[in-house]
Amino acid sequence: MASNFRPLDPETIARIREAVAPASVIEDRDKREPFGRDGTVEAFAMPELVVEATSAVQICALLKLANELRFPVTPRGLGTGLAGGAVPIHGGVLLSLAKMNRILTIDRDNFLAVVEPGVLNKDLKDAAREAGLYYPPDPASYDTCSIGGNAATNAGGPSCVKYGVTREYILGLEAVLPTGELIRTGVRTRKGVVGYDLTRLLVGSEGTLGVITQLVLKLIPHPPAITTLVALCPSLSSAMEAIRAVLGAGYVPCVVEFLDRHCLDLVGDLLPFEGVRDADAFLLIETDGAPEIIAREIEAIGEICLGSGADQVLLAPDARRRDRMWDVRKAVSLRIEERYPLDVHEDIVVPIRCIADFVRKLPPLEAAYGMKIFTFGHAGDGNLHLSMTAETREARERIERGIEEILKLVLGMGGTISGEHGIGMMKSKYLSLELSPESIRLQRRIKALFDPQGILNPGKVFSPLP
Ligand SMILES: Cc1cc2nc3c(=O)[nH]c(=O)nc-3n(C[C@H](O)[C@H](O)[C@H](O)COP(=O)(O)OP(=O)(O)OC[C@H]3O[C@@H](n4cnc5c(N)ncnc54)[C@H](O)[C@@H]3O)c2cc1C
Repeated sequence: MASNFRPLDPETIARIREAVAPASVIEDRDKREPFGRDGTVEAFAMPELVVEATSAVQICALLKLANELRFPVTPRGLGTGLAGGAVPIHGGVLLSLAKMNRILTIDRDNFLAVVEPGVLNKDLKDAAREAGLYYPPDPASYDTCSIGGNAATNAGGPSCVKYGVTREYILGLEAVLPTGELIRTGVRTRKGVVGYDLTRLLVGSEGTLGVITQLVLKLIPHPPAITTLVALCPSLSSAMEAIRAVLGAGYVPCVVEFLDRHCLDLVGDLLPFEGVRDADAFLLIETDGAPEIIAREIEAIGEICLGSGADQVLLAPDARRRDRMWDVRKAVSLRIEERYPLDVHEDIVVPIRCIADFVRKLPPLEAAYGMKIFTFGHAGDGNLHLSMTAETREARERIERGIEEILKLVLGMGGTISGEHGIGMMKSKYLSLELSPESIRLQRRIKALFDPQGILNPGKVFSPLP
């Protein structure tokens, strides 16, 4: 990618070492290399220098210097992002937050946690659990991604259908602005409406408006029990109708995941159930709460699934089979990646009433563009993961035309082109399909206000100006 930044010269590197302390700087090429990619298989760019931050003070010093000498800085949590957001496409400094990984407070009385950005999502969940509390946001990558990365991407996950996305759990932030100033946003209380909501502006800004250095998070009481149901359905659209009927009847499951026929072909052999071979779609529904209530709920949900055409419903599989199902659900992306030379991933959202209609429109598009579309994910909130695959990498251009048609279909139904992975570098070319020129202009002005020199995570979210 053409860059209007100059490569870091020895004098600049010396100034960076002085500003952040030499022990935090990685210059060795082999050690820098792993920081050049994230979870997006195909995106890579070598950082010229890696800084492993251990404090906000260091980050302030680094960003002040970046403004003075004008070099790019790309923040990185644990590098599991799926939009290339942490890939340093303009070189410069890759700023890793992985070492800022302390849980500073779990406050039982006020139901909140204060954490550094590099804390693993799973570690926070576990620490909250020990205190009888619950931190709901649960991206499928929860055991490999950071809370700071979750905030920067406003991550979602299976439990969003009941508990909402990361944004709902962030009460306040500490962040270093691209100009090097440290700010605190939001509150440590349940309510607070003073001034513009800068917390919400930073959340989901994909490392383009500030570097998050501390988070104040809302916790809730841990649900006492959870119960699971599996439904095997004769078609994907009948599975989606079943979900609509469950939600329409007023039930609020904490998980509504699904796999389509193509996914079952790849991972069905791993599922611990009979009858998977004959099913066209697999539904996994969970409810949590008081044991006697969820037992009644899950039974009623099973009845609704059968009434909507499910061939088979299995209530409350034992813990071993439940764990197995989650492993299988996670194995889907991996198997697709292993099997297909070309695999382009989208995570669209359509309104719940449109899910069945949307999936019915996919087979003709598969035929028209010569691709196989694997569909799976969080059906309860309309967030469908689509893996568009082909047998050769040369099919990319054709598939991208197909993707554009799918994204237009999604938008025509009132949906959105990304439910959780964000725009990063991979989807910036599609931004104008969803946002008006006025909205993009305003967002660019916000970016320029925060980052007048354009040094923080350049080249992300917005495509280059023509
Ligand atoms: C197997 C797998 C499953 C996944 N499942 C889900 C899912 O269910 N839901 C979901 O939402 N995502 C999912 N993801 C995507 C990814 O895990 C999330 O986007 C996650 O929030 C990224 O966290 P990270 O620490 O890896 O961030 P990174 O990948 O390191 O960075 C992501 C973005 O955030 C910015 N950033 C990171 N830390 C900071 C910080 N402290 N301050 C400012 N900016 C920062 C980066 O610049 C980049 O733009 C999945 C990924 C994989 C590989």
